[in-house]
Amino acid sequence: MIYTITLNPAIDKIKYLEGNLKQEQNNRVEKNFIDLGGKATHVSAILQQLNQENIALGFAGDMNKEEFYRVLELYEIKHEYIEVRNESVRESIVVINNSGGSYMITEKGPIISKLDKKKLSHILEDKVKGGDIIVIAGSPPPTYSLQDFRELIKILKRNSVYIACDVAGEYLKAALEEKVDFVKPNEHELNVLYPGEEEIYEKFMKLSERVKNAVCSLGSEGAMYMTKDAIYQVKPPKVDILSDTGAGDSFVGGYIYGVSQNYSTRDCVKQGIIVSASKVQHYGSCKIDLNQFNYIENNIEILEVR
Ligand code: ATP
Ligand code: MG
Ligand code: MG
Repeated sequence: MIYTITLNPAIDKIKYLEGNLKQEQNNRVEKNFIDLGGKATHVSAILQQLNQENIALGFAGDMNKEEFYRVLELYEIKHEYIEVRNESVRESIVVINNSGGSYMITEKGPIISKLDKKKLSHILEDKVKGGDIIVIAGSPPPTYSLQDFRELIKILKRNSVYIACDVAGEYLKAALEEKVDFVKPNEHELNVLYPGEEEIYEKFMKLSERVKNAVCSLGSEGAMYMTKDAIYQVKPPKVDILSDTGAGDSFVGGYIYGVSQNYSTRDCVKQGIIVSASKVQHYGSCKIDLNQFNYIENNIEILEVR
């Protein structure tokens, strides 16, 4: 089974304004759009659209859980969230000006008690078996400490599962120290991990020495991975971009689909590229169209860059 863990999911509320946002004035909304937030939920949505069974786990504040569950149902995601009493799932408000440009207003997320943390550990101890794949993505809420995060990985490591971790900053460092199986920083996250002046390839080599499977995603330039002999860049073709929100998560969804099918590393990366290059052609944060896959696959370029 594949489990995704989103420690701090969100309901994204996107509001397209009739005009541009102004102070002390009524800013009327032209159209509204509700979407799924929190990174590993996106991975679940992608896997679901690829017909790959999975279960979404994490914490959901019980005050607005019905609304959150309805958004999960839009993507037919199966879920077993720990419901946190008297707290809410984060709402992220995105205000988009008529002339383009946007404002984001985000919340910190629920206060997670010790008991709720234990509940998640118990669910994982109960359910997860050797051979399962676990995807942890997105930053935890502030009350979920770095130590809690390490404990979570340690519990998973007790069973021989494949742990994929798409997190940034201190959490990425911790994930590497706890020896997860896969990480996918983007260029910025890799530069934060290794702030020196060296080339991005040097930094990627350092990262690849520390983890079994590393990919660095490069936005429209695709992604790179390393073998014993070389670093390869897998580039998507030029496509019409509607939104890159969730592009990285879609990449992870595609890559993990490949892992679940025992694809080679190259084919896992290719699958990540295919899925994410489809995603950017849609407004929804985890919407893809399987009819776009053939074109993307046939026009992928693979370059040996080092
Ligand atoms: P996120 O903000 O979702 O966390 P990220 O910064 O982690 O994203 P990116 O490196 O921006 O991830 O993008 C992930 C993948 O999405 C890329 O490897 C690429 O395949 C695809 N992608 C992103 N932008 C474009 C684009 N403009 N054209 C084609 N593909 C794109
Ligand atoms: Mg990016
Ligand atoms: Mg990302």
